[in-house]
This record gives sequence, C-alpha cells and structure tokens, in this order.
Amino acid sequence: MNIDIATLFPEMLENYLSQSIVGRARDKGIFTVKCHNIRDYTLDKHRRVDDTPYSERQGMLMQCEPVYNCFTAVTEGRKPHVIYMSPQGRTLTQQRAKELSQLDDIFILCGHYEGVDDRVIEEIVDEEISIGDYVLTGGELPALVLVDCIVRMLDGTLSQADCYEDESHYNGLLEYPQYTRPEVWHGKHVPEILLSGHHANIQKWRHEQALVTTARKRPDLLEKLELSASDLAIIHKNIGD
Ligand code: SAM
Repeated sequence: MNIDIATLFPEMLENYLSQSIVGRARDKGIFTVKCHNIRDYTLDKHRRVDDTPYSERQGMLMQCEPVYNCFTAVTEGRKPHVIYMSPQGRTLTQQRAKELSQLDDIFILCGHYEGVDDRVIEEIVDEEISIGDYVLTGGELPALVLVDCIVRMLDGTLSQADCYEDESHYNGLLEYPQYTRPEVWHGKHVPEILLSGHHANIQKWRHEQALVTTARKRPDLLEKLELSASDLAIIHKNIGD
C-alpha cells in the first residue's frame, strides 16, 4: 500500500511514522508513506498558502491552488483514493479502516487554521473522515490516527491477524480482559481458566467475557449486533436485562 499525506507540517507526522510498530512496518516495506509540504507548491513569493475567508469570519483558510498543485504533482496522473481529514466527515470506524486497508493507493489531505477552501475539496476529495465530534487545530493528528489504524491491519505489521481480530471493535464487541505475570497481584488472581491450558474452554471464556465487557461498558454496541440466544443468555446471567 502507498500513502501520501499533504500537510503544512510534515515533520509533525514523520516522527510518529518512523517509530514503533508503524515505523517497523514501514522499514519492512509493508507500506510506503510520504509526507508532502503543501507550502512547497505555492506560487506565492512569500510562500503563503492561506488567506482570509470571504465572510466576516476571523482566521485563515488554506487556498485551493497550493493544495491542488501539491495533489497533481504528487499523484502524477495516478488515481488514489483521496481522503480529507475533517470534523464534517463520517466518523472513522474499525470497519471503514479495514475496507481502506484493502486499497493500494491513498492520498490524505490535512487541513489547518479554519480549514480548506471548499472548491478544492469538491474537486479532488473522494471522502471526508472525522476522528470524532470535536474540532482540532489541524488534520495531522487525525491523519496519524487513520494511518495507524489502517497499517496495523496490513499483512505482516502484527505477528498474526488474530492480534487485531480479537481486539475491541473488530467484530463489533469489546475485547475480553487480559492479564500478564504475576499470577497474583495485590491479592487479585488471574482467572484460573487462563492457567488451565484448555484451548477450547479459554476461547469460550474469552467470548463470554467479551460479551459481558461490552454489555457493561458500551451497551450501545450490542444494539448493532444480531446476538444468538446463547449470547443473550450469557449477558442476562451476568448483567441482567
Ligand atoms: N472550520 C472547520 C469546521 O468548522 O468544520 C474546522 C477546521 S479545523 C480548526 C482545521 C483542520 O483540522 C480541518 O481542516 C481538518 O483537517 C482538521 N480537523 C479538525 N478536527 C478534526 C476531526 N475531528 N477529524 C478530522 N479532522 C479534523
């Protein structure tokens, strides 16, 4: 997979994208990512990329031309899926990230200041994605959130697919509780079933715990699922109606 990110602050992104699991996946060639400074594509002699909005509104808006020049120079006739990180977009979900992880070529536009002139969004953008119903100063953190979420589902990033398939949200449930050594800490014991080595029973326990955890912490998620009679019985037994 190839990802291009257009931003006014490429160094903010580069640091994160070179570290830890994402950085290692990048080093292994599982994906390529390049951060492009939109300012390099302005024709203004003072390297300006923004101007005041046509309204009484305070603040600055990113102009069409530098964004468009950056897009055409970077993509060179390719047709990537173009995403604008925006608080007005559909909220990012694990499911959408999974679908995006199947694509070969993605171009992400990060806005800043008051955002971006609407005409260039209309011209080049396929999809607007939000990371939540709140407003940040720029699209850089949202772009990192999106890239991180996509990259950890690419083959080879994590040691096995079940590292993420068992995790919260992948199948609509939250993850079951997890424990590591020591066996007893502050008088609290690791559930005995996890020490039994009985794989089938452990799987069953994990599924039950995922149901119970979801019912306790995010009951709204259960409304989106078609639960079997036995799943409903587990929830009823542990939580009630
Ligand atoms: N004036 C815009 C509005 O009210 O919709 C908000 C602009 S915001 C201050 C600046 C930039 O940050 C946006 O262009 C977008 O790229 C990014 N941004 C802010 N909040 C975001 C969110 N929740 N999800 C994704 N991107 C966001």
